[in-house]
Amino acid sequence: MAGGQISHLSNGTTLVSFCVNDKPNEHTFAGCFLRLLLVFFNQIEMTVVRTFLSTRWRDRVGMDAIRRHQQRQLRDLLKHAQASVPIQQERIQSTKLLDFTDIPPIGKLNMMAKISDGVDHDMLSRLGSSAEELDAFCDGFYERDAYWFCNHAMLAESTGTSGTKGLFFRSRSELEQSAAIGMARSGSRPLLRILKHRPLRRAIVLMRNSRYATWQGLNDASHKYARFVDIRIFGNLDDPERLVHDLNAFDPHHLGSVPMYLQFLSQYKLQGKLKINPQTILTGGSTFTPADFALVKSAFPGARVTNRYASTECSPMATSCSLGQLHLFSDAALLEPVGEDEEATPLDEFSHHILITSLLRRFQPIIRYRLMDEVKISSQACGCGSPFPVIEVRGRSNPEFPATMNSGDEGVVRAIDLQKCMSSLPMIRQFQVNCHTKNQLDMLIFVHGNDLDVAAFRQRHQEEISQKFSEFLREKKCDQYVELHYEYLKVDLSKQKRQAFNLHI
Ligand SMILES: [Zn+2]
Repeated sequence: MAGGQISHLSNGTTLVSFCVNDKPNEHTFAGCFLRLLLVFFNQIEMTVVRTFLSTRWRDRVGMDAIRRHQQRQLRDLLKHAQASVPIQQERIQSTKLLDFTDIPPIGKLNMMAKISDGVDHDMLSRLGSSAEELDAFCDGFYERDAYWFCNHAMLAESTGTSGTKGLFFRSRSELEQSAAIGMARSGSRPLLRILKHRPLRRAIVLMRNSRYATWQGLNDASHKYARFVDIRIFGNLDDPERLVHDLNAFDPHHLGSVPMYLQFLSQYKLQGKLKINPQTILTGGSTFTPADFALVKSAFPGARVTNRYASTECSPMATSCSLGQLHLFSDAALLEPVGEDEEATPLDEFSHHILITSLLRRFQPIIRYRLMDEVKISSQACGCGSPFPVIEVRGRSNPEFPATMNSGDEGVVRAIDLQKCMSSLPMIRQFQVNCHTKNQLDMLIFVHGNDLDVAAFRQRHQEEISQKFSEFLREKKCDQYVELHYEYLKVDLSKQKRQAFNLHI
């Protein structure tokens, strides 16, 4: 069957859809050989090897194996969460697989009310710890650099959308499974390159933030797998000339970054200033449009460009194929596109938001958790032959930031209103808002253009921007409590067509 086939877990509700195509993936012989080599080198944990092997096997066997694995994982997850995670006990009750969509959705506020209620209490006992110790660890997260709890689970902050700190744990084993699935579905070529070029030079262009899962994972991997991979994080984003110089000196085999930085690196490459020729490029973190893909491919024609869709709460969720389509990892994550009323959205239509369930996470289970991304599941199979459904992600839908109104009542600042206000300021092309503390909005403004540096931009425009925004807060009747903090970041997108304002949250 060339089209899609839907898996129903309750009466008529689409839980996960599969594009049925039983064509097996390739690289199997090379894959087997490399697995043996990895074991031989004894540098990769057995969880990684086991997950890698089973993922490659499922992909080869096809849809039935994937579906069986998914159902088994879901059954195990629900049983586990009901038995040992307080916040899940009431939600799940005696839910069977077929009642899965009866479990009420949950949001960040509920998950964060008492973080220890959302974690595995049996594991806490086995670790010799307690709920109180875990909550104290979370409370102290912002005062220190440590992010490993009892050497068992890594604590990371999700990017703020609600004003509530989103703190999520992933155990070592969950992180390894997640990495292995990503590796298994990147084909064998990247692994062959690791062996061929050992150590593989991996450049990551990313703002340094030790509280984000991506940074933590890279930091740990750079020490752990130093024999295989030389990972360098390039965080000097406010000085593009220096960044280009450093990248040229490092000459990476692999380049990873968010779409926005890849755009400006592509421009530098097209101008001949950036001389690197990475064989693989990985991106993610915000919308990567077909135009972005085309730009990056034109600048780096020899590179395999992969886009990954993931979140701190659920990773990995999807990765792009050779045709640039995002394929959902149905055996690692369940993704339910829903409308504002949280009823299932039909195939081929964008959702208002999604409910995600991670099939990998056990220490802090994520079950029917609201994520404010607009996602569409396609009914069409992809030409690449992958058995996994094609999804399209349009970004976050209209988040709200909690705020105290001048009247003293609790209210919100809506992102869409903020966006309208900023769109009236012609000098701003792109900005980002983060809200880590209630009543404090951190605005990151991207300075475009070749000539103007950050200091000159700030001097010329800061007053007008502040004034405009103060008016906005007065209009919204929350200027007595809500504060704004500004930061600026230089990017060079002068050759790019002016885009609609981008709100990354
Ligand atoms: Zn595909």
